[in-house]
Amino acid sequence: PCISICAGAGCVASGADEVIEAFHQEIENQGLAATVSTKGTGCPGFCERGPVVVIYPEEICYLQVKVEDVPEIIEQTIKNKKVIDRLLFEDPATGEKAVKESDISFYRSQERTVLCNNIKIDSKSIEDYISLGGYSALAKALGEMTDIDVLEEVKKSNLRGRGGAGFPAGRKWEGSRNAPEPIKYVIVNADEGDPGAFMDRALLEGNPHSILEGLIIGGYAVASHEGYFYVRQEYPLAVENINLAIKQAEEYGLLGENILGSGFDFKVIVHQGAGAFVCGESTALMTSLEGKAGEPRPKYVRSNVKGLWERPSVLNNVETWANVPLIINKGADWFSSVGTESSKGTKIFSLVGKITNTGLVEVPMGMTLNEIIYKIGGGIPNGKKFKAVQTGGPSGGCIPEHLLDLQVGFDELTKAGSMMGSGGMIVLDEDTCMVDVARYFIEFLTDESCGKCVPCREGLRQMHRILTNITKGLGKEGDIELLEELAETAVEASLCALGKSAPNPFLSTLKYFRDEYEAHIREKK
Ligand code: SF4
Repeated sequence: PCISICAGAGCVASGADEVIEAFHQEIENQGLAATVSTKGTGCPGFCERGPVVVIYPEEICYLQVKVEDVPEIIEQTIKNKKVIDRLLFEDPATGEKAVKESDISFYRSQERTVLCNNIKIDSKSIEDYISLGGYSALAKALGEMTDIDVLEEVKKSNLRGRGGAGFPAGRKWEGSRNAPEPIKYVIVNADEGDPGAFMDRALLEGNPHSILEGLIIGGYAVASHEGYFYVRQEYPLAVENINLAIKQAEEYGLLGENILGSGFDFKVIVHQGAGAFVCGESTALMTSLEGKAGEPRPKYVRSNVKGLWERPSVLNNVETWANVPLIINKGADWFSSVGTESSKGTKIFSLVGKITNTGLVEVPMGMTLNEIIYKIGGGIPNGKKFKAVQTGGPSGGCIPEHLLDLQVGFDELTKAGSMMGSGGMIVLDEDTCMVDVARYFIEFLTDESCGKCVPCREGLRQMHRILTNITKGLGKEGDIELLEELAETAVEASLCALGKSAPNPFLSTLKYFRDEYEAHIREKK
């Protein structure tokens, strides 16, 4: 048997390191080291119930495992093949216990194609990754396909960037490839900074080789020989695992000169960001990579044509790159067979807030918010009623109950006044004050504004002041109109996407919950 224990940041915070050590000790003490192995894996997503332990080959899934449970698991499950009831997931709706991970309602409706190997591999082992087909897409791309074939396959898949704007990845790559400047770069945007979001973190920590493999394939397709990981330093385990993955790939001849004998050379450099949210914006990220203060710059020319050091630079986020090996291995038709007309494939969301099952979920594009929140998330805890779901990170918007049948997709969410962003999904219950939600996100963005342009720097500060007054019962007539004016100016006249999208939390809550703004002002409460 193999005992896999999530060693991702969420489970580590719940004591996974101690549980792993306890398994090592118990296996040693009982003389089982020759027949029982353990593995620290990436995040399986069910962070609410960590540390998560899965025992193979039966796939028995135990949740919230503590150090004191370890001797019993070894005695009962490993030695006597008995399942321990109290460590299984109990469906709150039916009371039924689920033995296997795939039987747990949280996982049953998910389609885990990008995340699926997180729980199967030791994130620090390239051998584990290779044993599950890792780097076969790179071998296929370099051995059987021309660089143009790879580019065309990604274009055909309709993969859209998972980082925010949803721009088609293949078209972005093509723009770089066709740019006349011979030196080009490919970059992983791993500067995930949205409050409540940890999709990229789970992949970086749990399956770093999948992102690296995608990046090398991307480099080949756009004729780039140099790639970068821009990863936030607040993710120390991610930084460690990415650095280790690069070292291992170099040792296996998967990075460096003449990769797999193909004649293609490629190197990768890791750069740690200093925790500025604005550095997730493409031009700010590239300016920071150049060693300057991470401030956005005007985009007279797109960064895929004139980006890092004014050279063509393809910037995609972690999840986008992790999809690339799957597309090359399984084909564009396979990828685009999942999803909606304009949003293909699956999407990872971090489902947090007032929700029973907090965690990471991967679902086909087109699944409704209702299904995600109730079927996977288990609904609202403590018998409370659903009020809204905030999607798209701090610059996203709040979607009310009457739109719960909305399908998740780039265009669908934008049409509803929110956005996909990188996949944050914060559920709010009936006790939530929507004006306070807008105030909270505007405060976050005010703090994170780089201050380069007035509509964002001063406009957000004023919006925050007015919203704070309203929530304190100090609002007055004309405040809503003033907020609208400030929001419009920020949208129209800000330099970068942070300022342009910052008013969204206010605009969407005003659109769907205007009565709450008016009640605060009228009733002075
Ligand atoms: Fe800086 Fe805001 Fe202007 Fe962007 S919009 S450049 S974050 S001040």
